[in-house]
Amino acid sequence: MTDTLNIISIFESIDGEVNGFHQGTLTTFIRTAQCNLRCAWCDTEYSFKSGMVIDIDDIIRTVKRLKPKKVTLTGGEPLIQKNSVSLIMKLVKEGYDVSVETNGTFIKPFNHPKVSWVYDYKLPSSKMEQFMLLEKFNNLNENDYVKFVIANDNDFMRSIEIRNSLDAAGNTSKYAYSPVPGYATSTLVDNLLKKGKGDEILSLQIHKIIWPTCGAIEEH
Ligand code: SF4
Repeated sequence: MTDTLNIISIFESIDGEVNGFHQGTLTTFIRTAQCNLRCAWCDTEYSFKSGMVIDIDDIIRTVKRLKPKKVTLTGGEPLIQKNSVSLIMKLVKEGYDVSVETNGTFIKPFNHPKVSWVYDYKLPSSKMEQFMLLEKFNNLNENDYVKFVIANDNDFMRSIEIRNSLDAAGNTSKYAYSPVPGYATSTLVDNLLKKGKGDEILSLQIHKIIWPTCGAIEEH
């Protein structure tokens, strides 16, 4: 018996969000169960439950039966489960590129060129900013992202402050900005052009453009 993880779903699709291996890349999603936050605009509340307990070797076998050469580990919050790190390392050993979507409350466990860490910084509209600690973002590098989900101008102005603090602390990751439905993308782009540093990346959720009527990407 090897280690296990609590899993909501494993499925192949495209990676609709930023990561070090490009938005739009074919990918196999592994969605882990449970989250330690409750963001006001969360679109994956179905991941809060406990999920199926699956042996890591069985997860790898499932991934190998699917076509994509990349894996996206998401949730929920993957890093709640300590065995997520073992899974990532085994996937890398099997030759996969892996991006990890995490909510910014856990320190990045390791660096590897085949792993890209996408760290959300939760802004005021999420109602979860009190759980953000800038030191948790200390170990990010050029293959990683800090992602800001923007719901209003107040979020945007706060993201500028946070970026300035992270830059001052020596952060070298890229910065991505993703609007929630209801916040105009054109407003976000205008704000980036007026108040950004010129290297920001807009991240629209491509899967929601391709499959606009699906609630969860699993459902298409
Ligand atoms: S961290 Fe992600 S999964 Fe957890 S509540 Fe926030 S948006 Fe939902």
